[in-house]
Parts: sequence; C-alpha cells; structure tokens
Amino acid sequence: MKVPDLNQSSRQIETAHTSGAYFKRPLTLVRGSGSRVQDDAGRSYIDATSGQGVALTGHAHPVVTAAIARQAGELVTSPEIFFNDQRARVYERLAALTPGDIGKFFLCNSGAEAMEGALKVAMLLTGRSKVLATRNAFHGRTMGALALTWNPKYRQPFDAWHSGQVQHLAFNDQAAAHAAIDGETAAVVIEVVQGEGGVHLADPAWLRNLRQLCDDNGALLIVDEIQTGLGRCGSWFACEQADVIPDVLTLGKGLAGGVPIGAVCWRASLGSLSPGSHGSTFGGNPLACAAALATLAVIEDEQLPERAARLGNWLMSELEGLQHPSVREVRGLGLLVGMQLRGRVTPVLKRLQDRGVLALPAGFNVLRLLPPLIISESELQDAVAAIRESLDD
Ligand SMILES: *Cc1c(COP(=O)(O)O)cnc(C)c1O
Repeated sequence: MKVPDLNQSSRQIETAHTSGAYFKRPLTLVRGSGSRVQDDAGRSYIDATSGQGVALTGHAHPVVTAAIARQAGELVTSPEIFFNDQRARVYERLAALTPGDIGKFFLCNSGAEAMEGALKVAMLLTGRSKVLATRNAFHGRTMGALALTWNPKYRQPFDAWHSGQVQHLAFNDQAAAHAAIDGETAAVVIEVVQGEGGVHLADPAWLRNLRQLCDDNGALLIVDEIQTGLGRCGSWFACEQADVIPDVLTLGKGLAGGVPIGAVCWRASLGSLSPGSHGSTFGGNPLACAAALATLAVIEDEQLPERAARLGNWLMSELEGLQHPSVREVRGLGLLVGMQLRGRVTPVLKRLQDRGVLALPAGFNVLRLLPPLIISESELQDAVAAIRESLDD
C-alpha cells in the first residue's frame, strides 16, 4: 500500500490525478455562505459564478441545508420503482410552477442527463428521429446531449457516433427554421438565452414562430431551461417572457440547491413513457427531492424571480454605464448577464479573482455573470467596481 504524503497540498494531489478535462484555476474553495465562497487561506470571494449557475439561493442557505440534513437522517436512497413522499411533492410543485399543461416528469441527476431524457421522450412520443438544434447551443457533454451542442471542439471527436440526425440552425433565423422543420422532425431544441454560447438572447418573435412551426408539423419544442430557469432570468421560466409554452422543458443546475439533479418535464397531453423505456438508479432520490422542495420554497418565499429581474436590470445599466472602451456590448436577461469584450476574457477573469470576484467566461471574449439570486445590492456594487478596475488594468 502506498503511504499518503500528509505534506502534499490538496492542490498538488488534484493536479496529479485530475482527468485533465478542466481548465483549473489556482484556487481551493472550502466553504460558502450566501453569495460568498472562501478559500483554504480564509480569503472571501463574491461568487458571481454561483458554482456554474447552481447556487440560486446562495451557498448553504439555512432552509436548504436543514432540509438536506433532515432527509439525510430519514431516507437518502430509494429508486422510482417505489413511491416516496418527497418525490411526490416535487412532482406536485413542478406541475404547479411549470407553464401550460406540463405535468409529467422524469427526474435524473444532471443537466446533460435531462437533455438525454428529453431526446428519448421526443423520439419515443413522436416516433421520429430528426432533431434540430441551434448554432452556439450548449446542451451538455454526454453523447446525446453533445450531438445538440454546437461547439465543434467538444462535438467533432465523437461525430462518428452522431449519424447526422441533428442539424444546427442559425439562431434567431426564421427562414432557416421554416426551411428545416418538416413532417419528419421529432423536436426542435433551444435555449431562451444561450448561456455557455456567449449570452445571446432569443428573439421572442422567433420563439413564437418556432412554436407555430412545431405545431404545424407535429414536432416537439424542447426548451432547455437548465441555466435560464427557476428565476435566473427574472421569471420562473425564461420561455414565459416570450409567451411560449414548450412541449418539453429541461431543468438542472440549481433545482436542488447544489445537490445533483435534473428534470425532464413534458406536457401531460403528450402521454407517458412505457415501463422500462428509461430509468436511473439515483433519479428522484429522496435526498435530492427534499433539497429541491426546500430550494423551490425559498425561490418562492424570497420572491427571487422578481429580485433577479430588478437586480439584473440594475446590473446591466451599471455595466453599460461604465462606457468602457474595452467593452463591445452588454447583454442579458435577469441575473444572466454577459459583457462582450474587444479582447480575450481570461486575463480579466484572473484580475477579477485577484480583486475577490469569481466570474465565468462564455466563449473567448464574453465575461459571464451568474450571481446567486439572493446577492445583495452592495455585493453587486462591489462586483461592478472590481470589474471596472479589472478592465482598467
Ligand atoms: C449546464 C448546462 C447543461 C448541462 O448540464 P450539466 O449538469 O453540466 O450536465 C445543459 N444545458 C444548459 C443550457 C446548461 O447551461
């Protein structure tokens, strides 16, 4: 047996054994509270990443933490072959919150898995296999979700397994959608705001036209709200702002306050899956369900969608007000905000981190801000000041 070297820092150990799949930042995070996280040296950062869009209710929200702790002592694991009280209540809440007659759910463990499930639902319920996605789309990195994702760098090494059933349309292009959607189309997959792809907003008129084209051709409209949903964009679901009701809606990221979860949600009128056609060992486990119930309750009680709308408008006007020569454009919806720079974003992210603010890239020249929806006005003000200074350097 190898003797562990107690002098090795966790950073050295991770560096030695990591898959290599990540661009690692030289920062070891050990705890979080509200919109702040702390490193192993005790330094505190404003977390404008929300741990990649997850911590909608902030880190260690007392209501979510208590629900996780309580359920951990009751029942952690139970597959969906059995009934469970927590799961039933999640279904009930999701059915009440989601638009239209969405009322069927498959619970899984990540965003990519929710996209896999959405594809299976679409193919099984339509009997078709042709799928349309959009340029710059990001829907995850597992094999099926990857076929929907645009970035050739992620997708092309695996194209041999993607048999040409997915076509990528120009985003916001009505004519392209009209030409591509036909009686063989199983589904059209979209994001209301492309997050990873550069913070691009869908035109509401284009979304409504897609809805109509899907209806006319018997195709399903799948809206990926993994990043945009649950209040992030200033409403429970971003599609509501365009008055578009999806056939299938996917959720992930913040749904369970940081406990891994994903959800495929679809219109009850489309029907159910047949037993055995899909499944997941951990899907709908009581721990994730209890965390999701608490998270949804906090989003509702603290009126976080309204808060995201208000703070997002303020943040965007502040960023525009910087009038900085290195900023090309500010785009966003609610607290999903992108600032397109004239140069590369990586050096700015690094300087921001040195100033105590963690943010994300979206492509090579967009700075993406995804703060927790509970962030205070003064923390947002501090973040804007740090952004100004980081652009000045
Ligand atoms: C994060 C994300 C995914 C993938 O979720 P994972 O949990 O990382 O698999 C899919 N779609 C969108 C829009 C996302 O932002």
